[in-house]
Amino acid sequence: MRFVHDTLPQRVVFASGGATEGVATEVGRLAAARVMVIAAPAAAELADRVTRGIPVALRHDEVVMHVPLDVAERAREAAAAHNVDAIVSVGGGSTTGLAKAVALTTGLPVVAVPTTYAGSEATDVWGLTEGATKSTGSDRRVLPHSVVYDAELTLGLPKRMTVASGLNALAHCVDSLWAPKADPINAALATEGARALADGLRRVDADPTDLAGREHTLYGAYLAAVAFASAGSGLHHKICHVLGGRYNLPHAQTHAVVLPYVLALNAPNAPEAEARLARAFGSATALEGLQSLRAALDAPRALRDHGLAEADLPDAVTAVLPVVPPSNPTPATADNLGALLRAAWEGADPS
Ligand code: NAD
Repeated sequence: MRFVHDTLPQRVVFASGGATEGVATEVGRLAAARVMVIAAPAAAELADRVTRGIPVALRHDEVVMHVPLDVAERAREAAAAHNVDAIVSVGGGSTTGLAKAVALTTGLPVVAVPTTYAGSEATDVWGLTEGATKSTGSDRRVLPHSVVYDAELTLGLPKRMTVASGLNALAHCVDSLWAPKADPINAALATEGARALADGLRRVDADPTDLAGREHTLYGAYLAAVAFASAGSGLHHKICHVLGGRYNLPHAQTHAVVLPYVLALNAPNAPEAEARLARAFGSATALEGLQSLRAALDAPRALRDHGLAEADLPDAVTAVLPVVPPSNPTPATADNLGALLRAAWEGADPS
């Protein structure tokens, strides 16, 4: 074996029902005295509860998906005006994303408390949107200093969002297996992440209040994000990035729809990834396992249901083609990408 693997330095606290104590401990370790709490209005009550034990100097609740630049600027100005020395984010990927945008220019340490399975808290990737263009980059300053995972905070995540967000996490696992920096370590994380997510999501779908199922899903989502953080973006993420930024499609649902089509394209030329995923799903083939999970969860099916216009398909192919990673197992062409996106738009059978 010859490979180089980067591991990101971060404290991870797993404590169902223990977010308040966990956040107080992490903020105490930073010796922070003026904390900015970022949480969307819908997460205000969760944020109240979780931040009870820390010195809050500022509550900021302007959270918008894909972090528009003006939203980031206002948060940065608020952080400076209140002279804060740390940030606690309570929410999904959009909330974590805003905390990262502030950290990017200020260097403030972030304690992230995730409430979805998006996984942004475990990566050093930031994203900002200006007009119709979403830019991303990677910078160690945006990697949260600590993550406090409390599965109880995900009990209220609505069923549709639970499924979409869980499949977003599963997409991190699948795409990691052929991403530019895929290696045996992130493959191991991705495989265990896929197993945990498939198992956890079935349990949560049967009973959204099943705390052990929620814990298993959150654990899988963390592994997925760590695998993605070190393997980088594969074809699936490149496609979803273009769709999300250019046509403002919802992040998790877009990932949930596109994943089987990318798997169907790549699996024939990625036998090891295919075998790993089939084992993780306990199925004869990876695609069969994914499709059976998607059917059980009644997963999002078609991009046309989530705001993509048919007329945008040719433009999407043109935008994706130049950013396809050279590592992709099946060489991408205008023809096979066009067919993939049309099938995903229609919700056609990926095989
Ligand atoms: P989100 O944060 O926008 O949340 C989706 C919806 O769920 C919102 O309406 C939110 O209020 C609600 N919600 C969240 N948690 C809840 C809970 N526990 N109970 C009830 N409702 C809840 O969506 P997301 O999918 O978590 O994140 C998407 C964003 O994260 C995108 O902008 C994406 O680009 C970014 N992201 C970044 C990375 C990275 O590594 N940088 C990784 C994954 C996602």
